Amino acid sequence: MSQWVQRDSRFVSWNTQEGITAIFTTRLGGVSMPPFDTLNLSFNVTDSPAAVAANRQRIMDVVDRKMDQLVMAEQVHHNRVGWVETADASKGAFRSADALPGLDGLLTRRTDVVLGMGFADCVPIFIAVPRHHIVGLLHAGWRGTVKGVQLRAVSLLKEAGIDPQDIEIGMGPSIGPCCYEVDDTVACRFDELLGAQSPLVPAREGHYFLDLWEANRAQFVRAGIPEAHIDISRLCTACHRDQFFSYRRDHGRTGRMGGFICMS
Ligand SMILES: [Zn+2]
Repeated sequence: MSQWVQRDSRFVSWNTQEGITAIFTTRLGGVSMPPFDTLNLSFNVTDSPAAVAANRQRIMDVVDRKMDQLVMAEQVHHNRVGWVETADASKGAFRSADALPGLDGLLTRRTDVVLGMGFADCVPIFIAVPRHHIVGLLHAGWRGTVKGVQLRAVSLLKEAGIDPQDIEIGMGPSIGPCCYEVDDTVACRFDELLGAQSPLVPAREGHYFLDLWEANRAQFVRAGIPEAHIDISRLCTACHRDQFFSYRRDHGRTGRMGGFICMS
């Protein structure tokens, strides 16, 4: 039974534990002009910064937080994950230049920050450890998935004394196995990583459809997280043009949705 629900056109929610707010935005309900129409949340595309700031403010209103509580990661398609503290609040919120450098994963124990990242096909992975009052957010495209951003996050949590059995995972909308065609070079990396579990289906000559949700799920299960604790929305960003931006479908000229998580 999926805990991903949509009650508002501007976002889908991962309904995990009481007190945890985890949302993934759509492209609807913002002020940006094409091709960023309308709820683009990234300063790193050529959208008007004023429009991005207005869109971000709308989403902070949705989660009932202030803009200076938001913390964004730089996102470099690698595997580094960091702990976010109260002192990090507002980094990356008003400009991308001061986003937390070199990170594709954020974890926090703090209730006064909102973790955020931008997405347009890569997998947004939400983490909740309610028993230990921890939330997290990861950015996993094919590179981050192969480099093990999900395993790095689990390692950091284990180092903090957390049992993987207490970790809950929610994977939000991203490009699905229906639309994500990759070439031999990328396919080989997944064969090396997952062997017989490699989530590839042959497409045209030398190309395969890759299931990033399954690849990340397999890695989390290997790391000791119960299968029942992994909830995948299975919404494909490329299939739903009206609802989501898709980097692949839109040939790179598009906006970014946002993943946000915080707790009370
Ligand atoms: Zn699709």
